[in-house]
Amino acid sequence: MSLDEISWVNRQLYIDGAWHSSSDGHEFEVENPATEDRFATVADASVDDATRAVDAAFRAGKGWAALAPRERGDILRRAFDLLIERKEQFARLMVLENGKALPEARAEIAYAAEFLRWFSEEAVRIDGSIGTTPSGSHRMVVIRQPIGVCVFVTPWNFPVAMATRKIGPALAAGCTVILKPASETPLSALAIAALFEEAGVPKGVVNVIPSRRSSTVVNALLHDRRVRKLSFTGSTEVGRILLSQASDCVIKCSMELGGNAPFIVFADADIEAAVEAAMVAKLRNGGESCTAANRFYVEKGVATKFARRFADAMGTVRIGSGLEEGVQLGPMINQSTRNKVSLLVEDAIDRGAEVLVGGRVPQRCGYFYEPTVLINVPSSARVLTEEIFGPVAPIVTFDSVEEVVALANNTEFGLVSFVHTSDLAKGLAVAERIESGMVGINRGVVSDPAAPFGGWKQSGIGREGAHEGMLEFLETKYIAANW
Ligand code: NAD
Repeated sequence: MSLDEISWVNRQLYIDGAWHSSSDGHEFEVENPATEDRFATVADASVDDATRAVDAAFRAGKGWAALAPRERGDILRRAFDLLIERKEQFARLMVLENGKALPEARAEIAYAAEFLRWFSEEAVRIDGSIGTTPSGSHRMVVIRQPIGVCVFVTPWNFPVAMATRKIGPALAAGCTVILKPASETPLSALAIAALFEEAGVPKGVVNVIPSRRSSTVVNALLHDRRVRKLSFTGSTEVGRILLSQASDCVIKCSMELGGNAPFIVFADADIEAAVEAAMVAKLRNGGESCTAANRFYVEKGVATKFARRFADAMGTVRIGSGLEEGVQLGPMINQSTRNKVSLLVEDAIDRGAEVLVGGRVPQRCGYFYEPTVLINVPSSARVLTEEIFGPVAPIVTFDSVEEVVALANNTEFGLVSFVHTSDLAKGLAVAERIESGMVGINRGVVSDPAAPFGGWKQSGIGREGAHEGMLEFLETKYIAANW
């Protein structure tokens, strides 16, 4: 790896428009999961640094909220242009710390940038209403105002897109923000801080504080009475902890949590197209995606055909270091994630599942795992109930619509589901009965900045993207008036 790949990234904390070391001098290392090489050191924010970030965001709040919406939109639009211009540089940086294959990283940057463009356009569409009470007693004026200082806690799997999906709408709404990125991927977040500065975001409006001391730092942020909003993306397990901490100061929460997406293939589906979609739904981001297909339910008559074709396609995927030409699947983020995937596969095999392809840890440096297809997976296998977060596809067969809808809904998660059928009426009817915030019909990916992204049940609270995404950062005020 050339040091040029990271020389352009400031590795300090970004607070109040300036770069700082940690108040107690602590730093932490960043690892390349493809080489296990610790290639960078980053400042490790303390509770004092977090408080300074709130001071800055609070001070900057009034001015930013008072700026004309068009001006806020123009700054976001400049940030979009800059991110597109620097796409390659950002993508390569992300590969180093996250491991994903370069084409995946490029796709993430394009997706991440779109949130900035979408919300630059939404900044000028903050609406309200005016009406008369039913009794005619007075007028009801309803306006929307920025909620205030926001705390963002983001995961490592989409380090740039999860940042822009939150910062875009918050800035458009007139809020100021403190981002605590995942400690596996701080460099992408710091690069984003510099990009916003260059785009003209005033000091204090965006603050980025990587920290290895996440629990104490985030806990302190959530107990600072000036913080009014938490937007978290990560596991349901950590989400529960943060919801509980946020309850002390009654902080408004948006939670984008874990998933366990069912991928349903009916016998009347176009099987080639379903396999193509399955490859995307399973392997996008190496399977380390909250929307990844986790359980494949295939109608009996086509199960063997689907499984064979899918296994053939998974078997040809090229594994390697994300920056290598032609590589389609990079390593998993770290050893413990890879171990978890490996244990889930072993558990399924112990309970009677058969491996069609993969099922092993390749003998090489880095946290790789082979693309894997399992068949005859019994319902007791953990791989069907837990979020896999890796390139493993367990296949289960079904006989009827009733059976598959019950199977799909038999989970505490409800983020996304995929349905494949050539009968659109059936697809829509099944989509209506599935308990998830998003459904893809004859598609392997659903995400789009213009669409409301979010989960039901323990997959989350609130929506990101779309007009709904802005509302998460706006308070509603009702003014009862006579004139
Ligand atoms: P994680 O929950 O371990 O960590 C997420 C963030 O929380 C990181 O910044 C981490 O440092 C921080 N964190 C961890 N423990 C904390 C604590 N006790 N207090 C405060 N902060 C803490 O998740 P991850 O491993 O980074 O990401 C994978 C998870 O994220 C998966 O479950 C995935 O489904 C989910 N995810 C969801 C979405 C969505 O939109 N629904 C998108 C991407 C990822």
